[in-house]
Amino acid sequence: MTTHNAELVVDLDQYRANLAALRAAAPGALQMAVVKADAYGHGMVPVARAARDVADWLGVATPAEALTLRAAGDAGPLLCWLTVPGAPFTELAEAGVEVTASTADQLAAIADASDLARAQLKVDTGLSRNGALGPQWDELVATAARLQAAGRIRITGVWSHFACADEPHDPANDRQEQVFVAAVDDLRAAGIDPGLRHLANSAAVVTRPSSHFDLVRVGIASYGIAPDPAVPVPQVRPVLTARTVLANVKRVPAGAAVSYGRRWIADRTTTLGLVPVGYGDGIHRTASNRAEVGFAGERLPVRGTICMDQMVVDLGDRSARIGDPVTLFGPGDDGEPSAQDWADAAGTIAYEIVTRLQGRWSRTYRGER
Ligand SMILES: *Cc1c(COP(=O)(O)O)cnc(C)c1O
Repeated sequence: MTTHNAELVVDLDQYRANLAALRAAAPGALQMAVVKADAYGHGMVPVARAARDVADWLGVATPAEALTLRAAGDAGPLLCWLTVPGAPFTELAEAGVEVTASTADQLAAIADASDLARAQLKVDTGLSRNGALGPQWDELVATAARLQAAGRIRITGVWSHFACADEPHDPANDRQEQVFVAAVDDLRAAGIDPGLRHLANSAAVVTRPSSHFDLVRVGIASYGIAPDPAVPVPQVRPVLTARTVLANVKRVPAGAAVSYGRRWIADRTTTLGLVPVGYGDGIHRTASNRAEVGFAGERLPVRGTICMDQMVVDLGDRSARIGDPVTLFGPGDDGEPSAQDWADAAGTIAYEIVTRLQGRWSRTYRGER
């Protein structure tokens, strides 16, 4: 920790334990570990390698993510679900990556690209994001039947995504599930074996067994973070610890103004600590004057504006020295805040707190095999 000012420690044993616990929560289904967006900021390649010890499938959003995994030696079942025209469907097929079709044109492009093409079909059951809806779904099903009958593609699955699985009592969840079941029936009626049927994300794994079908896609909970404070996942613990050391310590008098915009003024003589990470490292500036960090088993408030490279914390009258450890967030073993605490301070969700951690951190992996 000398060339890098701050460190992310990723506990892969905990990650495997989380996956195992989530598997027990969906015992009848296969498990897909979602490692998109650099494994939610945890580091895609090492996390994916650990995931293979437990999960059946990996899931990523983009072709670049899928091909990066293959280039790193990953060879297991892998689904990619977000492409644009010109996507490397030939390369993906040759790499054994399954891709997702949300439109008939997309499915035709996938079939044209390779004799090996395997595609899963995405139906929009109410999120209104990707996936086919209404007449577009009918067209996608008809195209799939035609291409498969001609031996030009293999349909290996059908899937959709919840809009509010983290609000388990919302009736929209039931409706989405019903639409999904009807879509599976559409495929069968068209003579297509639907293959793997999947709908559940982390929240649905713990709240909606009826949505588990053949496979569940676990993201946030595998990293030990609840999808929402209202959907606790007691079986898991956070995988990631974000930590650094004090880069400076100084005593300031009452009236001292801290950081850009002078948005915190000391009301007494106090000791300030300089924490050498900021929004350039993915720390949310909106947590200025609100977040806390862990220090020697206690929490210290962030004072003033969080800057690009640094932030200031209030040590009060504690004795502290340059180089003393500071934990921004972690599993809480030493009283430090959680990613959820940072999300509350920043006005966002815990997903964004970890996923934004990019750039200048060093990453240390515990439990690599
Ligand atoms: C990101 C994502 C997931 C994982 O969702 P979590 O809430 O993190 O479990 C599952 N499925 C799809 C399609 C996704 O994009």
